[in-house]
Amino acid sequence: MAHCIDFKSTKLSQLYGEYSFNDRTMRERLPSSIYQNMKEIQERDGTLTLEIAEVVANAMKDWAIERGATHYTHWFQPLTGLTAEKHDSFISPTSDGRILMEFSGKELIKGEPDASSFPSGGLRATFEARGYTAWDTSSPAYIQDLNGITTLTIPSAFISYRGEALDKKTPLLRSMHALNKATLRVLKALGNTDTRKVLTTVGPEQEYFLVDKEYYNKRPDLRLAGRTVFGSMSSKGQEMDDHYFGSIKERVLKFMHELNQELWKVGISAKTQHNEVAPNQFELATIFDTANLSTDRNQIAMKLIKNVAERHGMAALLHEKPFAGVNGSGKHNNWSICTDDGYNLLQPGDNPYENAQFLLFLTSVIKAVDIHASLLRLSAANPGNDHRLGANEAPPAIISIFLGDQLSSILDTLVEGAEHNHRDSEMMEIGINVLPNFPKDMSDRNRTSPFAFTGNKFEFRMVGSSQSIAGPNAILNSAVASVLNEVADRLEGSENSLEEVKKIIIESYRDHRRVIFNGNGYSDEWLKEAEKRGLPNLSCTVDALPELIKDEPVAMLSSLGVFSRAELESRLEIYLEAYCKQINIEAAIMIEMAERQIFPAVSRYVHELIKSMSSQESLGMSVTAQKKRIMQLSTHLEQLLSSLDSLRTVLAKAQQIDDIPEQSRFFRYQVFPSMEELRVHGDILETLTEQERWPYPSYEQLLFGL
Ligand code: ADP
Ligand code: MG
Repeated sequence: MAHCIDFKSTKLSQLYGEYSFNDRTMRERLPSSIYQNMKEIQERDGTLTLEIAEVVANAMKDWAIERGATHYTHWFQPLTGLTAEKHDSFISPTSDGRILMEFSGKELIKGEPDASSFPSGGLRATFEARGYTAWDTSSPAYIQDLNGITTLTIPSAFISYRGEALDKKTPLLRSMHALNKATLRVLKALGNTDTRKVLTTVGPEQEYFLVDKEYYNKRPDLRLAGRTVFGSMSSKGQEMDDHYFGSIKERVLKFMHELNQELWKVGISAKTQHNEVAPNQFELATIFDTANLSTDRNQIAMKLIKNVAERHGMAALLHEKPFAGVNGSGKHNNWSICTDDGYNLLQPGDNPYENAQFLLFLTSVIKAVDIHASLLRLSAANPGNDHRLGANEAPPAIISIFLGDQLSSILDTLVEGAEHNHRDSEMMEIGINVLPNFPKDMSDRNRTSPFAFTGNKFEFRMVGSSQSIAGPNAILNSAVASVLNEVADRLEGSENSLEEVKKIIIESYRDHRRVIFNGNGYSDEWLKEAEKRGLPNLSCTVDALPELIKDEPVAMLSSLGVFSRAELESRLEIYLEAYCKQINIEAAIMIEMAERQIFPAVSRYVHELIKSMSSQESLGMSVTAQKKRIMQLSTHLEQLLSSLDSLRTVLAKAQQIDDIPEQSRFFRYQVFPSMEELRVHGDILETLTEQERWPYPSYEQLLFGL
C-alpha cells in the first residue's frame, strides 16, 4: 500500500535524514571523544579500533531499534551490478529463556556472508568460499524501510581473504584515494598548503521507464530480461516531443512524491524530477556528493524506484533499452574534483593565476580521456547499453569531449601562439596572462557528446541506466590521477612552476585535442572524422571489454593500486560471462514467446480467417482481401518458424562453447543477429493480427497506458 506523507503536517526538514546514521545522528548519539575518532577515521586520519567500533555499534543498534529494526545487514555491491545483503537479528538468548538485543563492534566491522555463489572470476577458489564484508565508515549506515519492515543497513566493501576486491566499492575507494594523492601533489607543487584532502564529486541523473504493472505482468520478456524482445512500434512514438518536460500525470506524481519521501528519509537529496524524451520515461537527479556516497545512494535510489513503483501498481524499468524505436535510458554522471576547503578545481577562476590552475586540471582531464578512451568506453559497456550507444539517440560509442567554442578557442590560441612563436620566448610569456576573464556560464547545449564540459564539471553521458556508477568513476578517477601524477613529477622537478604549468597546458592540449569534438555526435560525418583522427570506436560490449587487460591499462591501474592484474582478469571474465548469460536468457525468452504464444495465436487467427472466407465464398462474395491477408500471414508465419529454427541452432552451439571470450563473441555475432531476424517476423505478424488476439500488451499500452 502506498503511504504518502502530508507535508502540511510533517516538516520535511525533520524527516530528512531521519533514517540515516549521519553526522548529525553520530554527534547526538556518540560520546564526543568517539565522535571525534569517527570523524578522523572518515578522513582517513585515524584508525578504527575494536573499542571505538563497540561504542558505535551499540549506538547504532539503539538508534535502529527505536526505528523498529530487529535485524542488521552488511550491504555490499558484488560484481553482479546489484546489491547484496544478509540479515542477522540482534537477539541473543539468555539462559533463563529471555533475549538481549546485541550488536558488537566485531559484527559491525566485519561480516562473513557465505559468498561462494557470487561471481569471483577465479579469484576465490570455491573451497575458500568465505570472502568477507568490511564496514565502510565513510558511508552512513541507514534504515531500509520496506513497507514498515525496517533493517539497519551497513554499507560495506566485499573482499577476499587475500585482500582482492570482489566488489565495485573497493576499487572506487582506491581510485578516490589515488586521485586525492595525485591532486594534492599537484596543488602542493603549485604552492597550495591549505588543502588537506581532495574529493571526487559525483552527481548522477537517473533515467527510467514506468509501465502499468498489469501490462508488465503479461510480458515475460520485461519480467525476465528487463526489455521487450518483440513489439512493433505504436502509431505514436516520441516524434511529437510532447512528453519531454511535459506536465507530470497525477499517478506518476504520487509515485514521485512517495519516492522522494523515502529518499529524503534516508538522507538522499532527491532534487529534480521530470518527464524525459520517450513516453513514460522519467528522470531523477540527486545533488552531488563524494563519488562513494553518490554510488551507494544511486544504488539505494534504483532499488527504491522499483519498490515504490510496485506499491503504485507500476513496474519501473531501469534497463538501458526496454523498447525498440524510442529513446533508451542512461545515467549522466556529473563529475568534478573538489578540495576540502570547498574549491572546485574545474571551476574557472577570477584571475589569470586561478585560470592557469583551472586550465591545468582541465587539460589533464582532456589528456586522460584521450589516452584512456577505451577504458572509459568499456566502463559503460553492458548488453543493455549495446542497444543505445551509437544508435542515434545516445552518445556514440566513440569517446570525445565537448568543450564548447569559447574554451576551445582559448586553448587553440594558446597552442597556436606557442607554436607560432616558439623561438620568441617573450610571446610565450604572455600566454596565460592574456587569458580573458572566463564567462561564468559556459553551460553546454550540446546533448550529443559522450563527455561534455558543463561549465564547472564534466558530464559522462555514456553510462547506462541500470549500471552501478562505481565502475565508470573508478576508471575516470584513475585515468585522471595517472596524468596528474605525471604533471606533479614535472612540477616538482621544475624551477619555475608557473612556466612549467604553461608548457604542460599547451602540450596536453596540443597532443590530445583530437579528442575534442564540439559538433553533432550523432552524425555520420563524425564517424568518419573520428576514424581519421584515430579515435577508438568500440561498438559493443564484447569488443570493448577485452581492452581491460591490455598492457597499458593494466600498468596504469595497478601502479595506482586501484586494480591488480588478477582483479582485472577476473572482472573481464565475470563481465563477459554475464554478457553471455544475458543474451542466452533473451534468446530463450524469444524462442519461448515465438513458439508457444505468437505461433499458436497467429495460427488460430489464420484459421478463423479461412473459416470466414469459406463461408463468404459460398455466398458468392469476393474474398480477395482475405486471401491476400491469409497469404501474408502464412508467409511470415513460415519465416517466423524458420528463423526460430536458426536461432535454436545457433543458441545450442553457443551453449557448447567453453572458452568465455569466444563464447561471448559467438553470442554477439551469431546469436544476436539471429534474434533480430526472428524479431522482424514477430513484429510484422503483430501488425497483421487482430489486436485482441495478440498474446501480449502492445507498445501502445506499455508506453501510453498509465
Ligand atoms: P543538467 O543541466 O545536466 O540537468 P544540473 O545543473 O541540474 O545539470 O546538474 C546535474 C547534476 O550535476 C546534479 O546531480 C548536480 O548536483 C551535479 N553537479 C553539480 N555540480 C557538481 C560538481 N561540482 N561535481 C559533481 N556533480 C555536480
Ligand atoms: Mg545532464
